[in-house]
Amino acid sequence: MQEVQDSMKQRVGVIGGGQLAWMMGAEAKTLGLELWLQTPNASDPAVARADKTILADLQDITATAKLSEECAVVTFENEFVDLEALGKLAAQGANFRPSLAFLEPLLDKYDQRRCCEKFNILVPHYQAWSLTDGLPEGWQYPLVIKARRHGYDGKGTFVIKNEAELKALPTGLEQTPLLLEAFVPFEQELAVMVARSASGDIRVFPVVETQQIHQVCHWAIAPAAVNNTVEDKVIHIAQTLAENLGLVGIMGIELFLTPAGEVLVNEIAPRTHNSGHFSLDACQTSQFAMQLQAIAGLPLGSPDLLVKGAVMVNLLGFEHSDSDYDHKRQILTQMPDSHVHWYGKAGASPGRKLGHVTITSPTDDRSTLMAIAKKIERLWYAQSDE
Ligand code: ADP
Repeated sequence: MQEVQDSMKQRVGVIGGGQLAWMMGAEAKTLGLELWLQTPNASDPAVARADKTILADLQDITATAKLSEECAVVTFENEFVDLEALGKLAAQGANFRPSLAFLEPLLDKYDQRRCCEKFNILVPHYQAWSLTDGLPEGWQYPLVIKARRHGYDGKGTFVIKNEAELKALPTGLEQTPLLLEAFVPFEQELAVMVARSASGDIRVFPVVETQQIHQVCHWAIAPAAVNNTVEDKVIHIAQTLAENLGLVGIMGIELFLTPAGEVLVNEIAPRTHNSGHFSLDACQTSQFAMQLQAIAGLPLGSPDLLVKGAVMVNLLGFEHSDSDYDHKRQILTQMPDSHVHWYGKAGASPGRKLGHVTITSPTDDRSTLMAIAKKIERLWYAQSDE
């Protein structure tokens, strides 16, 4: 780590103040680290857990300059960053972890695919594309169209089953650089978190199975019920990317497992990730603590499970409301081995990630864990609380 003043040594800056920074905030306290934020609203979840907040837009480079002057290391809550502007700060000594060089190929889904291929990692068949190009020869439905940048929670991703659906795409997309991608008839969606320290220590968390509905993650089961060969492939991908991209921090990798047992990378998130939330209650070290350890130069903990299995279910908004869903949360809290995390966001809207619940379990049996996930979803999305 660069030379820093003593008073700054234990101070970590985060650009972003949402739920990821909120969960990091609790772990920062446990690790004895001071947490500073740059986030636009005083009502953003992480503000309550930060030692200090610079209230500013995430792209406000003057605010980031101040954050980086005050903190020994600065990290990111999301990948929607302006590399050019941040590069100027890095040249003046700002200590970004992960580094901007690491982030560079990961900000664009097309670049991510190219990067994976460079390391002989399989990805879905793809090409760079624009809606005005028309469908190139050889492409068949179903296919997937994705905005190359700024997509999240399925926003900017469209599964297209026929020409009518292609024609019905929002007109604004014509101006957007896109990725055209073959639809992968996957058997399971998997995900894995991997952390790496500046000295090259790597920790891979248990592989999880995730369930997305309309491109949004609904739940994750740990560990994924996959055979050793598949698990080894996932771990190999995680280690290869972490090492070759020079990760210092943590990243999440979303994958498709095909019926033939192939593992394809769908997406790389250069930060903590929804699919790693289970680690807060089910692992020796959470993904948030691991991220802080990696970027602050502390020894990395163990990512091993403390329990046989776990299921994490996202608590998504399903209405426009100011409700804090207190009654439903109480019911979830009373379930055995339940850990409810409520992010304290101002206002609910359909699909908004308001919280999550993890149930730890004495079994890793997939159908048992899936039944728990379905029970929670029935309860959460039921119109009445009965
Ligand atoms: P986002 O960046 O918004 O999370 P993703 O590219 O990860 O979007 O896609 C969201 C979901 O859409 C995936 O988890 C998967 O369920 C589905 N999906 C994306 N790409 C494909 C594909 N090529 N084949 C099949 N399903 C896909």
